[in-house]
Amino acid sequence: MEIAGYIKTSLIEWPGKISSVIFVPGCNFRCPFCHNADLVVRSKVSKFQSFKEKEVLADLEKRKKWVEAVAVTGGEPTLQADLSRFLSRLKQMGFLTMVESNGTKPEIINELIIKKLTDYIAMDLKGDFENYEKYTNVKCLSTGKVGTMYNVRESIELIAKSGVGYEFRTTVVPGLHDMENLIELAKQIKKEIVNCKLKIENCHWFLQQFRPVNCFDKKYLTIKPYSKQALEKICRNLQKIIPQTNLRGV
Ligand code: SF4
Repeated sequence: MEIAGYIKTSLIEWPGKISSVIFVPGCNFRCPFCHNADLVVRSKVSKFQSFKEKEVLADLEKRKKWVEAVAVTGGEPTLQADLSRFLSRLKQMGFLTMVESNGTKPEIINELIIKKLTDYIAMDLKGDFENYEKYTNVKCLSTGKVGTMYNVRESIELIAKSGVGYEFRTTVVPGLHDMENLIELAKQIKKEIVNCKLKIENCHWFLQQFRPVNCFDKKYLTIKPYSKQALEKICRNLQKIIPQTNLRGV
């Protein structure tokens, strides 16, 4: 698998677990607020950012005594052709695995679930479904069962029904997100969950603080994040729709 970044020990990537974090290059979105900007365009990822899989696995082997989990993030992990094989190797080594995804490849998410290759899935929800293009800077239309928004919805359903630990995440960015469109997103998430005959009380949604650092769109470097008080107010309102809505990074 292509590896463009490797953090040997993290206490925050998977709260409650000591984990290593692997970053893959390339993403099919161009979120302007993305703070892994140098990983998004695969052809622009520097060769100096490249790690050999064999060496990373050898290093993980040495860390097994105190690192219990490995998170695979990016970029977009589900675009990697051999993600399943790589996760399978990590499982054989005895690690718990977490995959962070934008949910555009439900067929890969499904494969990971069926083959029990991941113990936790963190899926980004960029904003209300009608305006996904605004949040991702790529065409997101769907016709019938084809297209990005169909795929995102499909991934929500697969993940929520999987029995695997999961969370949905939204980075809240002034100028892109406000109370109104976040309420719309909350209703859309709830609709997907309820349609699956699942309890909305079991749906975990994190609102993440935006950090104006290393953004894909340099204009976002000057955007001032919402205050703690403003995010708490938004969170309280969203909890009326999705009770387990919480803040992160505030
Ligand atoms: S925020 Fe995530 S989905 Fe968006 S461009 Fe960055 S890596 Fe891709």
